[in-house]
Amino acid sequence: MEDCIFCKIIRREIPSEFLLETEDLVVFRDINPQAPVHLLIVPKVHIRSINELEENHAPLVGRLFLAAKEMAMREGINTSGYKLQFNVEKGGGQEVFHLHLHLIGGWKKR
Ligand code: 5GP
Ligand code: ZN
Repeated sequence: MEDCIFCKIIRREIPSEFLLETEDLVVFRDINPQAPVHLLIVPKVHIRSINELEENHAPLVGRLFLAAKEMAMREGINTSGYKLQFNVEKGGGQEVFHLHLHLIGGWKKR
């Protein structure tokens, strides 16, 4: 996908620090964090949104969640708690139309 910003990040045409990179996904920090920890877990393959998921994507989707769990541990927010979120299409708040899982947390404990 020529003009997709996340494809450009994955191709390293836009500099971004990968906290994790595997064969099929990357993790980097959100440029406009909504919480102390706000990471994006992004498959390397360009899929527009959850609406475009197909049966053969099931293992990949599983690995997105496992990467989220791994990153929550590494960021030290696994026990305090966090949110995982997919925004789907404009009405669901999606702004970048390349599938990504938000990992959000790190709020102060009360
Ligand atoms: P969406 O609203 O599509 O679910 O989330 C897109 C997210 O990508 C937003 O939270 C936004 O801050 C983030 N974002 C947009 N452009 C960039 C970028 O160039 N680099 C990084 N690291 N994050 C971005
Ligand atoms: Zn893309």
